[in-house]
Amino acid sequence: MLIKWHGHSCFEIIAKSPLNNLREPESVELKNSPESSILRKSQINPEDLAHGKSYFRKSIIWVTDPHDGKSLGLKKPGGQADFITISHRHFDHDKARFFKTEKTKIIHKPGRIHYLGVETEGLETFHDMSRGKERGKNILFSVSINRIRLVHMGDLGHKLIPGELAKLHNIDIIFIPVGGIFTIGPKVAWNVISEIKPRVAVPMHYNLPGLSLPLKEVEDFLSLAPAGCQIEKVGKQKKIDRKILDTHGVGSTKIWVFSIS
Ligand SMILES: [Zn+2]
Repeated sequence: MLIKWHGHSCFEIIAKSPLNNLREPESVELKNSPESSILRKSQINPEDLAHGKSYFRKSIIWVTDPHDGKSLGLKKPGGQADFITISHRHFDHDKARFFKTEKTKIIHKPGRIHYLGVETEGLETFHDMSRGKERGKNILFSVSINRIRLVHMGDLGHKLIPGELAKLHNIDIIFIPVGGIFTIGPKVAWNVISEIKPRVAVPMHYNLPGLSLPLKEVEDFLSLAPAGCQIEKVGKQKKIDRKILDTHGVGSTKIWVFSIS
């Protein structure tokens, strides 16, 4: 799996297609373990079947919260996504057209969806601390691809309550806003990380050179890291797999800081 950052809340995640594990729809091997990398027949969405050849594609591309570059003062992103998740309909998160093809599925509602062998669950939260009264709702997307579970938190604006946390256990990677002003800031971000205890947390939605929004710097977040927390500057993209993630023990979240140049 390759994770690329396009700045702000926009990540492009390229993974081996889980559907490569299917020889043909009729001969799906049934296994009881939900952890199995072989898909169960019941997990196949009829919409996937309709895609026919797409079963045998090599990779699958997920894009999160695309922006248009220009209105944020960042480089214009672009590519071809199989599916795009949109946490909320604000200008800096919902510019799907830069990654959209005629086959792209756009997911912008809460609930569970199986698509192309990927399980996506949208969890409704809020963009502020007053249950959406100021800035509306926000959707966290929890996505499982090839036994790696990633959560994109969009413009989360509050600490998570126990009912929300109960749905977020055993997470490998979270993408979390840290820039404050319009979202949670550094302190609450650390609180959320300590509650979820993902293997890796990736800060996003913070100030960058040229950014037109007055957000805090990533250093404001990093400076509050607990003692012993490992911080890795990973560059523009990072390649990972299940084995690499398993070397990061649960309970001691590692921070990956991406760069845009
Ligand atoms: Zn935003």
